[in-house]
Amino acid sequence: MKNSTIIGIDLGTTNSLVAVMDQGRPRILPNSLDKNLTPSVVGLCDEGKLIVGQSARNRLVTNPGETVALFKRHMGTDKRFDLGGKSYSAVEISALLLRHLKDEAQERLNTDIVEAVISVPAYFNESQRRATKQAGEIAGLKIERLINEPTAAAIFHSSADLARTKTVLVFDLGGGTLDVTILNQYQSVIEIIATAGNHRLGGEDLTDAIVAYFLKEHGLSQSVVDRTELAKLRHHSEYIKRSLLHKDSVSTYASIEGVSRLLVLTADKLTSIFESHLQQMLLVLKQAIRDAGILTTQLDEVVLVGGATQTRAVVDLVRKYCGCEPLRHTNPDEAIALGAALQAALKAKDESVKDLILTDVCSHSLGVEVVTKGWGGHIQSGFFSSIIDRNVVVPCSRERRFFTVIDNQTEVCLKVYQGEHRRVENNLLLGELFVAVEAQPAGEQAVDVRFSYDINGLLEVVAKVSSTGLTQSKLILLQQGVLTEEEVVESRQRLEALKTHPREKLANQILLMRAERVYQMTLGQLREHLEYLIRQYEYALDSQDERRIRVAAAALLPLLEQLDTEGIE
Ligand code: ADP
Ligand code: MG
Repeated sequence: MKNSTIIGIDLGTTNSLVAVMDQGRPRILPNSLDKNLTPSVVGLCDEGKLIVGQSARNRLVTNPGETVALFKRHMGTDKRFDLGGKSYSAVEISALLLRHLKDEAQERLNTDIVEAVISVPAYFNESQRRATKQAGEIAGLKIERLINEPTAAAIFHSSADLARTKTVLVFDLGGGTLDVTILNQYQSVIEIIATAGNHRLGGEDLTDAIVAYFLKEHGLSQSVVDRTELAKLRHHSEYIKRSLLHKDSVSTYASIEGVSRLLVLTADKLTSIFESHLQQMLLVLKQAIRDAGILTTQLDEVVLVGGATQTRAVVDLVRKYCGCEPLRHTNPDEAIALGAALQAALKAKDESVKDLILTDVCSHSLGVEVVTKGWGGHIQSGFFSSIIDRNVVVPCSRERRFFTVIDNQTEVCLKVYQGEHRRVENNLLLGELFVAVEAQPAGEQAVDVRFSYDINGLLEVVAKVSSTGLTQSKLILLQQGVLTEEEVVESRQRLEALKTHPREKLANQILLMRAERVYQMTLGQLREHLEYLIRQYEYALDSQDERRIRVAAAALLPLLEQLDTEGIE
């Protein structure tokens, strides 16, 4: 095996992709089925072995109980998923997917892969970012860089033409998240100037809205419809959503509660079903433009990224608001992975990207809880005081001084929050830092609090007591869904036990595909003999016995090679 390569991974809500640099340009690494997109679905097959990607997605409808999808939406929360009687966190399920992507990439490249750059929605908060990093670590990958998804799409888009100067808006609507990012490109310098988003709004919500509409139309309630039938209805709704991009009306039949029901939808009706989602998208667009301090007329280009931008109503909204025809890459779902590979090259100081300079911003404000003196001198708590405002270029570091508020106070508790609300209860509590101070009258002791956002949008806090010079930087993380270092190790060991089904392994898949191809070319006795050997090989795969698999492959391979070289008709 060669030395390590850093891969770029787009870990999507619905689909994931891997890309690498190849002769100075990023390229998507297809999976073992030769597909660029690997569904972000993890499940167990009948024998209890792990299946990931398309084969797991195929079982979403038939075995919803042993299959997990859309888990990215729960990163950074304590939600648990059941798989074969055991429960796993979103971080662990993501780790299983990442491990699969890593294994396939290793086999494909015949290279050890120890490091990756993973893309995250720009609007992911601290806990979601940390959770993503940990999922990579559990999967055995070093994750030193996360890249914001629209930033990744933007560098890929801009890298095609480094001679220009322009202002670009990237509208990225994936399965579960919306990010809108605005950037200035001055030739090879790409500067992100603002980002806004909603990490609870994506193409899957649009599909859910269609499901809800059909249930209502047919007088059904989600809670009473059987899980498998609901999965089927969702499947039909997804089909209708996609078909309506180029058609005015689509209809299909679905059997629900034993009754065959006609599902009909027109493009106009679809737009009205999506009304509230479209309004939310508009708010995000407006905020991004406002934060960038520009007018929509100053935009030179609008780029659509993410599978869900293939929705007519969404394109109409973006066109109308931005006042220009949005551009779409041929494969809008690949731009992010390709950009992540470019970021990996930047990190590795690859010669091919030596001229490229990229700066990004933080997507959320960071601050602490403060108390204020209200009417009559009463102390009121619960106010948010921002130390770093959103859309500041990262890495960045800011300091603010705070004073004691009570006489003889011996400790200051700094509660660190992320968000945009005045009141801390509406923001995300990241952690606490306790700082010892000398007992003195209120207001006499000062603490200088320094916040640093690193290049990945992750935070470091240092507090210094000005009278003593003592510093404290041990932030007690209070976020849900984020693990301690020991838990990461434990998790990795626990997941080791979940072995991939041999049918899923790249080499086995390739041999089977080759056998199928050669089978189609042969006839008569030769075909029968080949059929016998293929079946023996399949039995061996199903037995999951490594030795039997090797023996069966050894019996099959020489015949395939012989027939391939002879080019038998
Ligand atoms: P993610 O990166 O979040 O996994 P993708 O960029 O792959 O998401 O986009 C997936 C979303 O795009 C899904 O919600 C899917 O329904 C939607 N989508 C994909 N193709 C189409 C299409 N032709 N029309 C409408 N929506 C689509
Ligand atoms: Mg995506």
